[in-house]
Amino acid sequence: MTNTEIIFTFLDEKAGQEQGYYLDGIISACEVWLEGKEIPHVDANVTKEEIRRGLQLAILKGMKQNAQPHHQMTPDAIGILVGYIASKLVHSKEEVALLDPAAGTGNLLYTVMNSMVGAASAFAVEIDDLLVRLAAVSADLLEQPVRFYVQDGLRPLLVDPVDLVISDLPVGYYPDDDNALNFEMMPTEGHAYSHHLFIEQSLNHLKPGGYGLFITTVNLFESDQSELLQTYLKRHAMIRAIIQLPDSLFKHVSHAKFILILQKPTEDMAAKGAPDVMLAKVPDMMDKNLMAQFFRKIDKWIEEM
Ligand code: SAM
Repeated sequence: MTNTEIIFTFLDEKAGQEQGYYLDGIISACEVWLEGKEIPHVDANVTKEEIRRGLQLAILKGMKQNAQPHHQMTPDAIGILVGYIASKLVHSKEEVALLDPAAGTGNLLYTVMNSMVGAASAFAVEIDDLLVRLAAVSADLLEQPVRFYVQDGLRPLLVDPVDLVISDLPVGYYPDDDNALNFEMMPTEGHAYSHHLFIEQSLNHLKPGGYGLFITTVNLFESDQSELLQTYLKRHAMIRAIIQLPDSLFKHVSHAKFILILQKPTEDMAAKGAPDVMLAKVPDMMDKNLMAQFFRKIDKWIEEM
């Protein structure tokens, strides 16, 4: 068995023995592992990615049995792409501070942190208590320094400015109008879109020059509130890239998403004006040649930035 399979089997057996929900069982199994009372018998050179994938398989099984409302773990195919781009964007930094304001199980965040070349630390915000507990034991097993906040990610956040925000944004209306009034993208009538407010919140917490990588719906710029978004972005951000993800990653074409890459401008950048936006489409991910071509395009774009 591979290390990932050994880890999954260990968590699966332990979680299956527990009374109650399987996802709670995974948390207990991770705690037993962390305390060293029982451990999966993996190779001494087990990697963080192998541990993350073992955890992910167990969490996916738990989600099938007991779906968390409004939560879908970010698939690996997307996480690995975001990780690749993020690590290149911050390659010159010795230490990178990250934020995921809607972190869920942390799967996306950990994929990105595992792909960083230098040291990385993160702030993770999530409203669902069970998901935060899962994310927290995972961070301990992965030895990733993450500070967790169990709260509405659109409420004030006590986090220091970060180099990178990555997030698979919750999409839809944000019901808390009183709080939404604190954001520029609150419309004069009706509810604001939570994905818009998450973008605004993220830019508020980025250092000048820092990047935001958001996984969001393809119709972002075509909604009834897209004018608010356009105006906001013109004032506060530079759109760096829009990378369309393959339809095959989503159950329905209407659920298709893209990766929106924004940069918070420094004063110098703002004076120079808007840069060109890199538009790309991720090809069939099973086609090695096309994927190699795609990564070359990404590398060239980052080199020329
Ligand atoms: N990247 C995550 C992962 O790999 O598990 C998945 C993120 S999921 C697409 C979006 C997450 O946003 C869900 O876990 C949901 O509970 C959370 N969420 C929704 N509204 C929120 C809010 N107002 N504040 C914080 N988290 C929120």
